[in-house]
Amino acid sequence: MRTITLLLDGIGDRVYKELCSRGYCGMMTPLFPGVELGTELAHFLMFGYKLDEYPGRAIIDCIGENKKILDNEIVLRTSWANVSCEEGFFLNERFVEELDKEDGIKLSQNLVKDIDGYKFRWEHSYDSHGFLFIEGNNLSANVSDSDPFYNNQFVMKVEEFEDDSFEARKTAEIINKFLVKASKSLDESLVNSDRISKGLAPANFLLTKWSGKMKTLESFYKKNGMKSAIIGKSNLLKGLAKLLKMEYFEEGNFKKAIETAISMEGFDYIHVHTKLPDQASHKKDPFEKVRVIEEIDKEIEPILNFKEGLIVVTGDHTTPSFGKCIHAGDDVPIMFIGERLRTDDVMEYGERTCTKGSFKINGEDFMPMILNFSNRTKLFHLRAGKKRRLYTPKEVNPLKDV
Ligand SMILES: [Zn+2]
Repeated sequence: MRTITLLLDGIGDRVYKELCSRGYCGMMTPLFPGVELGTELAHFLMFGYKLDEYPGRAIIDCIGENKKILDNEIVLRTSWANVSCEEGFFLNERFVEELDKEDGIKLSQNLVKDIDGYKFRWEHSYDSHGFLFIEGNNLSANVSDSDPFYNNQFVMKVEEFEDDSFEARKTAEIINKFLVKASKSLDESLVNSDRISKGLAPANFLLTKWSGKMKTLESFYKKNGMKSAIIGKSNLLKGLAKLLKMEYFEEGNFKKAIETAISMEGFDYIHVHTKLPDQASHKKDPFEKVRVIEEIDKEIEPILNFKEGLIVVTGDHTTPSFGKCIHAGDDVPIMFIGERLRTDDVMEYGERTCTKGSFKINGEDFMPMILNFSNRTKLFHLRAGKKRRLYTPKEVNPLKDV
């Protein structure tokens, strides 16, 4: 039995009347009430993984862009920024404008390559964004960001993050040394003298954030017992798919993605992702968000013909379409539709209506709910193999005559 999830990134509104009358509805808290998550962690938890397994956002971004990460490396997200030096580095622009790949590579040639025996290398990502790889033994990814995330603030000192180990303190120390040296050497770059002559702000700081270290994680198949795929158009989701060994198919058109999911025999779980509601919210225009959701409402029509499996409609987090918040910690509406599944009195998909629905769950309950509604569960006390599984395994380790 196939499950198709329609994941409306950053959702929050109404509609889907046709589906709702057949649905079993409720609300889902991504992590804890009031805690604001990014897309990758919200998905990571929904896919059945625990917080302590999370390898860091830079890793997921990096894998999504097909970059190679060594076992003894940590990776940080970076951006070429503009600062004024006054008792610290005062941040004017977190990402300088009009900086292409070639400029980034030239700027990176001015960066120091070695500090205390640790090797530093930089790779371009897009526009003024990139990755900083630090190679060496005993590095820790448990370090804080230098990027304060908002302009007109001071660049932050990198500190050990919730980890008092020697490794975390040492890693923070070498990153701080690197950042100060980098800033001085960037002043000498020809890219910057050229930018100044054109009236552009010089890229005189390399901001860092979201440190991560590669982890070998159990595959989605092993974790949840389902052959799975993500359909979408996002390097982040692609990175997550690769990390969790899910198939990834790129399709930016939501309607086509749904049609593809319906045609995909042989898969047990298909996650159809659209970034459109989230993008509309980030424009901070509620009317644009309404327009996008109405558009999605038309595009989901093909799913009405999918009768043989389980349909899930939900979001990963809330993205308010006004105010300063990036995302918000509110719960999100969720709806399950399947043959013989319970239904309830909720007739519209939305926060106000689904709050009056049948259940309230957390992100980590998402996969167990799907296993249950797609009839894959097994009794909790049964022991099939070394580890407790919530699903009936398709393969077992057979006993052989020795
Ligand atoms: Zn998201």
